[in-house]
Amino acid sequence: MALRKILLQGDKALLRTSREVTDFDARLAQLLDDLHETIESEEGMGLAAPQVGVLRRACLVIDLTGTEDEVLELINPEIITYSEELDTACEGCLSVPNIWGMVDRPKEVRVRAQDRFGNVFELDCDNYLARAIQHEIDHLDGILFSKNTTRFLSEKEAELIMDGREREFRKRRKNARLLAAKSGTKPSSINSRKIIVQPADGAESV
Ligand SMILES: [Zn+2]
Repeated sequence: MALRKILLQGDKALLRTSREVTDFDARLAQLLDDLHETIESEEGMGLAAPQVGVLRRACLVIDLTGTEDEVLELINPEIITYSEELDTACEGCLSVPNIWGMVDRPKEVRVRAQDRFGNVFELDCDNYLARAIQHEIDHLDGILFSKNTTRFLSEKEAELIMDGREREFRKRRKNARLLAAKSGTKPSSINSRKIIVQPADGAESV
């Protein structure tokens, strides 16, 4: 595994559309492992391949909806249904450091994606997780959250209104990172979410 450099706003690669992943091979596994290591060294809630300069439709999202922090891997993710109801909340981005903003997004979505082996799965999610996944899919389409921001906020303002789970997670990761830096080790890793893959119905196949 290796840390990858995160591209910052202003880099044209962040505005390009990423290509579908077609090879579920060792190279993809390496990319995902590197994205894991990179996100673990930051306090981000998600990271998409184009943010490290790889224009492929793959991203990670931290899932805080269970009892443990877990990393969700989404390959070729697409939103297949949206709720009409919108949710307005603040977002930040590792590629747009120190800037936060309010963004309106559908409150509930159903996502279809593949895992690192190419198995198709679907996921219903809402609120914070639905938002995080939509933010990452936007990266795959070359869209930064700052484009859709209705109001910009300072980090302090953002922390006051962000989802409580996200605020706690950011604190935990920051502490883990500081502890690791002191002891010269790596921050503890976040487990990968084990997806139970539902076989696709009918003739649909991977
Ligand atoms: Zn982002």
